[in-house]
Amino acid sequence: EEVRTIARYNAGLTIDEVRRRHGVEVVAKLGSNENPNGPSASVASVLSAFHELARLYPDPSGRALAAEIARGFAVEDGQVILGNGSEDLIAVICRSVVRPGDTIATLYPSFPLHEDYTALMGGRIDRVVVKADLTIDVDALVAAARRKPRMLLFANPMNPVGSWLTPAELDRVIAAVDQDTLVVVDEAYAEYAAGEDYPSAVDLLRDTPLNWAVLRTFSKAYGLAGLRIGYGIASSAALCSFFDRARTPFNTNAVAQAAALAALAAPGHLGLSVAMALSERDRIGQALLDLGYRVAPSKCNFLFFDAGRDATVLAEALLARGVIVKPWKQPGFETFVRVSIGSPVENDHFLAALAAVSPA
Ligand code: PMP
Repeated sequence: EEVRTIARYNAGLTIDEVRRRHGVEVVAKLGSNENPNGPSASVASVLSAFHELARLYPDPSGRALAAEIARGFAVEDGQVILGNGSEDLIAVICRSVVRPGDTIATLYPSFPLHEDYTALMGGRIDRVVVKADLTIDVDALVAAARRKPRMLLFANPMNPVGSWLTPAELDRVIAAVDQDTLVVVDEAYAEYAAGEDYPSAVDLLRDTPLNWAVLRTFSKAYGLAGLRIGYGIASSAALCSFFDRARTPFNTNAVAQAAALAALAAPGHLGLSVAMALSERDRIGQALLDLGYRVAPSKCNFLFFDAGRDATVLAEALLARGVIVKPWKQPGFETFVRVSIGSPVENDHFLAALAAVSPA
C-alpha cells in the first residue's frame, strides 16, 4: 500500500487526458512546476549522438556530468552523486540512512516524498509546521534539530509553500545540528531563489564538520523534467559511496546525462527562464491578491494560495476550463492550491479561469 502511494504521489493528469475528458482544446498544465520554455534549444545536440547513447550502457556514475557539476560548486568529483531525478536521490538517501524507529525532522506541509520514503523505511516524522503567515518557523526548526534526529531533511525554498530560510536563518539551523544528524537540504528550486537573501546551503555547510547533502534537479529551471536527472552534492566522497550502496548502478540514463551537460553549457537560457518565471510570478501573485486570495511568499516557480474552500472543488472547476493545478491534500492545508508559473499565455488562461469560478 505504501509503495503504491509513492508511485502515485504525483499521478497528475496529462494534457491529452484533460482534453479528452473535458472537451477543451487548450490545456495549461500548471500542477507540476515544469519550465514552460523547456530546455535550451542547444540541448537537442544530444540527438545527433542518440544512436550511440541509446545503444551503450551509460557511465554508471555519470563521471563527465559529475565532474562539470563539481567544478561549478568547487567540490571534489567524488562529492557528486547523480539521480534519476532528485526524487531518486531522496529514495537512495532514505534507503541508506533511515532505520526503523529513526526520527527524521522535516518541514510541514512538505514535499510528500520526504515523508513517504522515511515512512517506507520505518522512520518517524517530526514535523515543523509553517507559521500562520506561511513562513518557516525557524525557532521550531532549530528546536527539532536540537532533538538530534537521524536526519534533518527539508526543501529550501520549500515546496509546496514557496517560503525560504535566509542565510542567517539557515546558519542558525545548521548551528543547532548535532554531528550524528545527517543534514539534507533539497534545493530543487534554488535557481529561481538565487540572490542575496537566499543562501547556497553548500557554501554554509562546506566548512562545518557535519555530514550533509544538498539536492538539485534539472527538472525545473533547466526544463528537463521528462528526462529525469538530478544530483546531490555531499560533504565527502565517503558519504556518496555510502549512498551508492542503495543506488541502482545505472540509475541515470545516457541521454539524460548528455542533455544535462548541454543544459549546463547554456546559462543564458537558464537566466531567461528564471527571469520570466519571476516577473510572471509577481504578476500572478498580484492578480491573486486582487481576486481576494491569501498568497504565501514564494521564491519558487509556483504560488501557494488559500482557495478559502475545498481546494479539490476549485481544482475540478479549473480543470473543466482546461487548467491543471495542484490541490494540496495534507491535513490542515486542504483549502490550499499550488499553481505553477507557466508561460504568459498559460498564466492568462489560469487567471481567466480562476476569475470565472471565484466568488465575486
Ligand atoms: N524536491 C522537491 C522539493 C520537488 O518539488 C521536486 C519535484 N516536484 C523534487 C524534489 C523531485 O524532482 P525531480 O525528481 O524531478 O528532480
